[in-house]
Amino acid sequence: MKAVRIHEFGGPEVLRYEDVADPQCRRDQVLVRVKACAMNHLDIWVRKGLPGVKLPHILGSDIAGEIVEVGEYVSGFKVGQRVLLAPMHFCNHCAKCTSGLQNQCREFTVVGNLVDGGNCELIAAPAVRVIPIPDTLDFNQAASVPLVFLTAWHMLVGRAGIRPGQTVLVLGANSGVGIAGIQLAKFFNCRVITTAGDDRKIDKAHELGADHVINHYKQKISEEVRTITNKEGVDVVLEHVGPATWEESLKSLKPGGTLVTCGATTGPQVGIDLRFVYSRQLSVLGSYMGTMGELHEVLKHVFNGTLKPIVDRAFPLAEIREAHEYMEKSQMFGKIVLDP
Ligand SMILES: [Zn+2]
Repeated sequence: MKAVRIHEFGGPEVLRYEDVADPQCRRDQVLVRVKACAMNHLDIWVRKGLPGVKLPHILGSDIAGEIVEVGEYVSGFKVGQRVLLAPMHFCNHCAKCTSGLQNQCREFTVVGNLVDGGNCELIAAPAVRVIPIPDTLDFNQAASVPLVFLTAWHMLVGRAGIRPGQTVLVLGANSGVGIAGIQLAKFFNCRVITTAGDDRKIDKAHELGADHVINHYKQKISEEVRTITNKEGVDVVLEHVGPATWEESLKSLKPGGTLVTCGATTGPQVGIDLRFVYSRQLSVLGSYMGTMGELHEVLKHVFNGTLKPIVDRAFPLAEIREAHEYMEKSQMFGKIVLDP
């Protein structure tokens, strides 16, 4: 089959479109012909070099496609079925996995990070990770869903425990997690404040349902939040940006508020004023992907059309270098998808 592999870490030039051996379908697996694989910032991090990644390596976490082979031990699936794959790898038999906490499994990793991903034509996956999709979603849309909607669901519902009527600040309206976070918070009848960097993105954020959009290049986030909330602050901040927004995010919280973070796009180190955390009784929570149960739950609302994946643009897999350059310019609003 054709696949894109990296043999060394670096810029887009290390992405090589080449022939590799077809994967073998184990008896407990399903073989899927990849029709679409959505990009995430993780693709860029892995390409540049993350610890534990074995080379050569295939990137790509979010996969949708068609079943071409069903292993002997697998029931309930058939050849030709349209499916998406849960973007995570876990052992499926440890105490955490069997209690439904797959993202706390010792083997847990995101597909395309420590295990090969979907920038290829064929991929084998255990049945537990295979989820049928409705005909109302095309493959590009289906591939745009799992990682970001699961991440946002686990952050807001699983970790921060949002409740109707709360005010939620979602950083980066144009990011995948931002797009999912805005829709989820509105779904839970929360008031949503978000941030964007230009007029086009601000308009799109409003279209998604955001009540207030702050231009993070022209306005100071915490000051605007203070004005919008009548000096009160927000209940929850959905963070994934890191040092560039961290202090503003903390300052935007009301006393007793919760900051939940799933990423560090602008770097791994931030400062924290302990006096501010304890006196205002803030919660700072980490969040990593989510559980299979949460994925099934959020997908239900995507499959019935309530939550919508946003596709910015699709590239042929062979043009993956252009796709990576496009992502690094941050001009997209929604997912970038690679089609083998
Ligand atoms: Zn496990």
